[in-house]
Amino acid sequence: MGRDERGVTPQQEDFSAWYNELVAKAQLVDRGPAKGTMVIRPYGYRLWELIQDELDRRIKDTGHENAYFPLLIPESYLRREADHVEGFSPELAVVTHAGGKELEEPLIVRPTSETIIGEMMAKWVSSHRDLPLLLNQWANVVRWELRPRMFLRTTEFLWQEGHTAHAGEADAMRETMLALDLYTEVARDVAAIPVVPGEKTAGERFAGAVRTFTIEGMMRDGKALQAGTSHYMGTNFAKAFDIQYTSEAGQLELCHTTSWGMSTRMIGGVIMTHGDDKGLVLPPRLAPYQVVIVPIGRGDQGAQTSAAARELAGRLKAAGVRTHVDDRAQLSPGFRFNDWELRGAPVRLELGPRDLESGTVVMAKRLGDEGKQSIPLSSVPELLPGVLEDFQAFLLRRATEFRDSHTAEVESWDSFTDAVASGWALALHCGKAACEADIKAKVAATPRCIPLDGAPETGRCVLCGDASAYGKRVIFGRAY
Ligand SMILES: [Zn+2]
Repeated sequence: MGRDERGVTPQQEDFSAWYNELVAKAQLVDRGPAKGTMVIRPYGYRLWELIQDELDRRIKDTGHENAYFPLLIPESYLRREADHVEGFSPELAVVTHAGGKELEEPLIVRPTSETIIGEMMAKWVSSHRDLPLLLNQWANVVRWELRPRMFLRTTEFLWQEGHTAHAGEADAMRETMLALDLYTEVARDVAAIPVVPGEKTAGERFAGAVRTFTIEGMMRDGKALQAGTSHYMGTNFAKAFDIQYTSEAGQLELCHTTSWGMSTRMIGGVIMTHGDDKGLVLPPRLAPYQVVIVPIGRGDQGAQTSAAARELAGRLKAAGVRTHVDDRAQLSPGFRFNDWELRGAPVRLELGPRDLESGTVVMAKRLGDEGKQSIPLSSVPELLPGVLEDFQAFLLRRATEFRDSHTAEVESWDSFTDAVASGWALALHCGKAACEADIKAKVAATPRCIPLDGAPETGRCVLCGDASAYGKRVIFGRAY
C-alpha cells in the first residue's frame, strides 16, 4: 500500500522527515511567517499546558513564587557579565527603533532573563533575612535560529525560568540540584522519558555559569536531547549586578545565584521518545485526550451510538479521564481510527450498533500486542484509569529498555565510533577542550553529561590516551 497524504515517512527511512511531517499532520504546530518561528496549535498547546501544570505545581510546592519580568532588556545589562554576552551575542534580536525614532540605547528581546532579574534582585535583597529569594517566571524568549526545527530549535519558544539567590554556595548548590530533581521527575514520571541527570563538561556550560547540570533523554534515532538544565552561577551575576546582603555578623556579602529552565523543547522529546511509523504515541499523563470514543453507524443507528458515546464520555470525565468523542460521521470509522493513531491518543473505544446491543465497547490501545478487546460498557469508567496507568508504565519501560540497549561502555576508539552511530557511548575522557573538539569533528558526537550516578572509574582517554578526568565515565552522543 502506498503512503497516502495522511501517513508519515517511516522512521527508518528518514527520521527527520518523519518528525517534520508528524508535527504538522498531528496538528501540533504550523510554521510562523518570521524565520524560525512556530505557531503552536491547540492540540500542541494543550500538551504544553499539561507539562506546565505538572511542573508549576512542583515549583510552587518547593517554595518558589511566580513573577513576570519585561520582555525588553537594556543592551547594557547583557554587557555586564562578559561570558554571558559573548555566549548569547550571535542569537540576539535587538530593537533599535521604536515609536518612530531611533532609540538612545538599543533593547534586547530577552534570550533569557538572568540580567534583568539580577537587577531586581539587587533591589530586593539587602539582608540575610531576605534570602533565599526563590523566583520563577513562565515566559517566551527569543534566540535567533538559523536552522529551525519545530519544538527543538525555534527563534521564539516558551519556557519557565527559575532564578534564585542564596546566602552561600552550599544553599545555592542544593537549589541547583533540587531543580534538576524536579526536571528528572517530570521527564520520567509524567513524560515517560527515562532521562539521565548529570553535569555538563566545561565546554558545554551555560554562558556565565560555574556549573551546569542537565537531563539527557535518548530519542528513537539514538540521538540525545537536552531536556532541561540547571545552573549554579557562583557569584558571577551577583558581582555584575551588585546582588549583596548583610550577613548576621553584619558583613556585606555577595549572593550565590542559580537559574534553571525547561521549555517547549520537551514536547519534541515526547514525540521522538515514543512516536512510531503510525504517528504520535502520547503518555497518558500528557495526552490532551487520554481516551477517544468513536461511535460507528449511519442514520438512526449512528444517532444511537453517538448518544451512547456522549453518555460514556460523561462518565469517564467524572472519573477524571480526559475524553473526546469523535462523531465526525461523514468520515469513515477507519479514517477516524487512523487519525487518532496519528495523533497519539493512548486508548480508543469503538462503539458500533452491535456493541451497543450487547452492552459492550471495543477497546484498542495505541501500542501493545493484546489487540482489540471487547469490554462491558458499564465497567469502562472503572477500568480505564488502570489501563492508562499501565500504558504510562509500559512506555517508560519500553523507553528505558531502548536507551539501555543503545548505550555501550566503550574502551577503544573503534567501539566508541560504533556506539555513537546508533546511540550513546559511555567512555573515559581526558576532559580537554581540544580533545572534545576532535571527537566532534570526527564523529559529530559531544559529551552529553557526566552522569550523577556513574561509578567511580579512572583510566585513559578513549581518543587521545591521556589520563581521564572527572573520576567516572562520560556519556557521548550525537545530539539535537
Ligand atoms: Zn582526550
